[in-house]
Amino acid sequence: MKLYNQITKNVAEFVPQDPNNIKIYTCGPTVYSYAHIGNFSSYIYWDLLVRTLSLNGYQVNRVLNLTDVGHLSSDADEGEDKLEKGAKREGKTVWEIADKYITAFLKDFRALNLTEPTKIARATDYIEADIALVKKLIDKGYTYETSDGIYYDTSKFEKYADFARLNLEKLKAGARVEFNSEKRNASDFAVWKYVKPGEDHAMQWEFNGKMGYPGWHLECSTIIHEELGEPIDIHTGGIDHIPIHHTNEIAQSEAAFDEKLSHYWLHCNFITIDGQKVSKSLGNIYTLDDLREKGYSPYDFKLWVLQGHYRSDRNFSFEDLNAAKNRRLNWRNRVAESYQKDLSSSFIKETALSFVNNDLNSAELMAYIDDNTLSLDDWRFIDQLLGLDLLKTSPDLTDELKEQIKARENARRAGDYATADALREKLAENKITVLDTENGPIWQYLA
Ligand code: AMP
Ligand code: ZN
Repeated sequence: MKLYNQITKNVAEFVPQDPNNIKIYTCGPTVYSYAHIGNFSSYIYWDLLVRTLSLNGYQVNRVLNLTDVGHLSSDADEGEDKLEKGAKREGKTVWEIADKYITAFLKDFRALNLTEPTKIARATDYIEADIALVKKLIDKGYTYETSDGIYYDTSKFEKYADFARLNLEKLKAGARVEFNSEKRNASDFAVWKYVKPGEDHAMQWEFNGKMGYPGWHLECSTIIHEELGEPIDIHTGGIDHIPIHHTNEIAQSEAAFDEKLSHYWLHCNFITIDGQKVSKSLGNIYTLDDLREKGYSPYDFKLWVLQGHYRSDRNFSFEDLNAAKNRRLNWRNRVAESYQKDLSSSFIKETALSFVNNDLNSAELMAYIDDNTLSLDDWRFIDQLLGLDLLKTSPDLTDELKEQIKARENARRAGDYATADALREKLAENKITVLDTENGPIWQYLA
């Protein structure tokens, strides 16, 4: 299969290190508020990646982290700690905030039928390993201490600018305004922060004789090292991670462990809503619950995401979500048809897989589904690949309902329209409608 490779900047043949252990790491959410549909679009793309690899016969070993140790709201190691912010907002402890939003995140993750990662790693479970990594970086001479923490000296890592094609001179000029005077280079970043005197920071651990907490890029390097081991096969994240977070992960991991961090990097683009950035001030942050309230299932949203491509920026609108919902309802009725007729399939699994094997082109696969006759077995395959739960949400009728359809047909033929209508109403209560065709009655799902 082919995957876009950030390292070589093109679509390359994917070559796994070990087909029985494809190591994937996904940067997960910071759990201080509800994840919105923009966040979930990324996890939907990576779910397609995992499902595609699995259907190609590979065994996937995937880790997703949950950032429950508050990192700072700015990439420049400044600003407010996100979990502290959540705690103040809700009058809870940071630990309660983390638990609350982890539960909410996992509930939505499962509602979208996203493949369960092999391991879901909470950052706070890795503090000891974080400290070991910081010590390693200190011992290898990559760090220096300032009054507020231990910083990574990016000038010591020769390849620092390569991954994101950074222009370090420009970065230096742009950073002058808020440049921390103790930092040696504008791109240097904290691997460990000290709690300042008087600072209200509930999460803190002792290291170097002082209380502090890990810098926000550290946990990913640590968790990858502990749970997967370098090099991994594929690292995924959003495009916002390229210039700082992933660049810093690479600098930490490769300096500490003398191994490439990852062979492939996949970054997804952002979604906008009605042409605008997802933001609180615009009031356009939608969660899955918001969509449910408006009558859309998480599967409608998932189908909308899969109609696009992870590297394209996408514009979300309710008009388009509605079109996705209609497509899904149409597919449900095609599943219903496949229960009632022995459809001879014109659908070829290898062809279907070849679309997603080409850098996860699910949009083309969906057009192929629209244009071909699918048997029940084909739909089962589509469920494995796209995870839309079509068979689960479009079950075959119970014997009782099938009997009602027969009884209605008999009543209709006998001219007993009152009974036939009563039975039609009963079926409608179960969200089933019956079409009378030349070949007898055909049932469908009501929207
Ligand atoms: P956060 O929890 O805020 O760090 O967000 C987690 C990740 O979700 C971000 O790093 C992005 O990769 C992704 N993300 C945030 N907003 C959007 C968006 N509007 N569209 C797509 N992905 C997004
Ligand atoms: Zn990360």
